[in-house]
Order: sequence, then C-alpha cells, then structure tokens
Amino acid sequence: MEREMKFGTRCVHSGEKPDPVYGAHTTPIFQTSTFVFENTEQGAARFAGEEAGYVYTRIPPNTPTHAALAEKVADLEGGEAGQTFASGMAAITALVLGHLKQGDHLISTDVVYGCTYSLFLTVLPRLGIKVSFIDTSDLDKVRAAFKENTKMVFLETPANPTMTVCDIGEIACMAREHGALCVVDNTFSTPYFQKPLELGADVSLSSCTKYIGGHADLLGGVVVGSKDFMSCLAPVVGYTGGIMGPHEAWLCIRGLKTLHLRMEKHAENALEVAEFLESHPGVEWVRYPGLPSHPQHLIAKKQMSGYSGMISFGVRGGLEAGRRLMDSVRLCSLAVSLGATDTLIQHPASMTHACVPCEIRKSVCITDELVRISVGIEEPEDIIADLEQALEKI
Ligand SMILES: *Cc1c(COP(=O)(O)O)cnc(C)c1O
Repeated sequence: MEREMKFGTRCVHSGEKPDPVYGAHTTPIFQTSTFVFENTEQGAARFAGEEAGYVYTRIPPNTPTHAALAEKVADLEGGEAGQTFASGMAAITALVLGHLKQGDHLISTDVVYGCTYSLFLTVLPRLGIKVSFIDTSDLDKVRAAFKENTKMVFLETPANPTMTVCDIGEIACMAREHGALCVVDNTFSTPYFQKPLELGADVSLSSCTKYIGGHADLLGGVVVGSKDFMSCLAPVVGYTGGIMGPHEAWLCIRGLKTLHLRMEKHAENALEVAEFLESHPGVEWVRYPGLPSHPQHLIAKKQMSGYSGMISFGVRGGLEAGRRLMDSVRLCSLAVSLGATDTLIQHPASMTHACVPCEIRKSVCITDELVRISVGIEEPEDIIADLEQALEKI
C-alpha cells in the first residue's frame, strides 16, 4: 500500500498534476465561461451527467482550476469530495437551501459569524425553517434542543468572536442519533489544526477568504463532505450560482501551498500575543483556546492540534478604552476579516456583529469592550510592541 504523505506535502501537491495539454507545472487558470464538446452526443451525455467533464463554469465541477482546488481541500479535510463557492456565505447559503426545506428545524451555535447569524435569523424563518440558537459548549442544552424535525446542526468552533469552543465529536454523535446533518464552520482552525470530519461531523466548510487564501486578496468558500452528499449539493450549486472566479480558485491553490507554514507561525505568534495581553494590567480578560484560562481549553486540546491565530480580549475601561487602543495601533490594521498574513484588529459590537441585536449580543458575551485580533505572521516582538504602545494610550 502506498504511504500517505504528510499534511504539509499534501498542502503543496494534493489535487494538482502537470497540465496534460502543454505540461504547465502549475495548475492553469481556466478563464473561460464555457467548454467545447466534441459532438452533440458528448454535449448531451455531459448534461445528463452520464459522462464526466466540463460544461459551463457555473455547473460543477466548474473548471479544472476549481476541480484542483476542491480536490486539494477535500484531501486536507480528510473528506471524499469538495465544492468551491464565491464566498463563505455563498457556501453556507447553498448548504442550507440544498439540505433544508419548509417545516425543518436547524440547531445553530448561538455565537456564529455575523452574516451567518443574520441568514439564519431573518431568511430561513421566511422559508418556514425554524432555527434554535444554542450555547453548543453546553452539551445538555444541545441534547435538549433536538426536535422530531431537526435536520441540521450547524457548529462554529472556535466561534467568532467569543472564541467559545464546542465538542464536535459529542455533538456529531447526537446529530447522527437524530438523523440530522452535522456541519462545522472550520474557518478559524483550518484543517491544519482541526479536522471536523475525522471527529464525526458530516460536512466541514470554510471561508477561503480567511486562512485558506491567506493573503486578504480574495473572496471564496468551500464545502467538503461525502461523495453522496456533495453530488446532492451539486445541482443547487448550479441553480444558486455563487461560483468562485477561476482566478480566485488559482489564488487559493497558491495560498494553500503554504498553509502549514503560515498556520504554525500564526499560532506561535498568537500564543505569545495572548500571553502578553493576559499579563498586561490594561487588559481585563483574554480568550484564546491555547491558554489554560480558556473555559473550554480541555475540549480545544482534545480536538485541535493547535489553536490558530484568533484572540479576543477586553480592555480595562470598556468600549472607550478599546476604541483608543484600536485608533492608536500602527502596525496592526483596523480592519475586519481575518486569517491574513498581516495582523488585523476590529471591534465586533460595532462592526462584524453589529447586525446581531444588542440584547442578544449581551446574552452571548459579545460585549461592547470585546476587541478581536487576527494575529498575522509578522515577527511577534513587533506585534507586541505595537499593542504595548497602543495600550499606553488608553
Ligand atoms: C468570514 C467568515 C464567514 C463568511 O465568509 P465570506 O467569505 O466572508 O463570505 C463565515 N464564517 C466565518 C467563521 C467567517 O469568519
């Protein structure tokens, strides 16, 4: 039997082979909207799904560039098949529209990415799909939330922006008993640190805009699951049409070649920054899954092989002090998004999570003083020096 290559080697090589026509070493960008058939018979067979191959860029497998990326991510996630999308939100939308119908019930982590929350809160109920937002770090609450018609459990762990962690294996087990699909938003960890499918989840999805692309220069999303599940999702992908551009697919392939190197550095830097913040008198609290002070540190340790680059913290002096901190940084950029090579800092209550109603933000601890930092791959001394000078101004 062939030996399985190690993760870093697979980041570089999986899904890719030299171009069969000209022998180009890197995967070419197929900047085309349509594909030529040899004859009418072949065109009909492709449309009928009787012959594998490319048809039209909106229809899976899109183009060979998309197919190479989907195969690479599927391999890294330990899944059978993948599908790329125009954005993380396009991926989540296709997934819920493809799997849920009127009368179904969805259980979602109560702290999720702001737009995911709004999609679940405002759009799904209009389609007759009920959603329960549950603190999924509490297994008893999850167990009690299942109903006869629960068809999907949507987990985000670590959650954006509170960094709350939930037990994927335990919840996937409950979902299976109830015949519900267990989906994990793996954007924060990437498959380098967490493999939801190996922990028992059915589907792992990511916003490629973040660590997968890695350089804050594209939008993209990806879903990975079993061959059967992905072939059911494929028509919905074609109908909803939220397709990644060929150039973005190529940028993601290029980004993934260094995923293992970047993630190591992000995590190494984040631990140093988290330890610095925790020891600083101007900081009230710090949430980083890699710190023993994190409430679910032990669950994180069990299911993650590292803790990625995201930290949230509260500055002493609340919102005003936090604002002064964010207005005083020089190296760090005041910007939403995350997973970039550069360190980004933002204020969820007024930015990414402003769409979550105020009372709900409070109830799930997205407090006004919470500052979120996506630690980049600069040298940690420089990031810490920048935060130190900004903390002096509060
Ligand atoms: C950014 C993000 C999304 C949405 O992805 P886009 O590519 O911006 O559409 C979904 N989930 C998480 C956890 C995110 O950080």
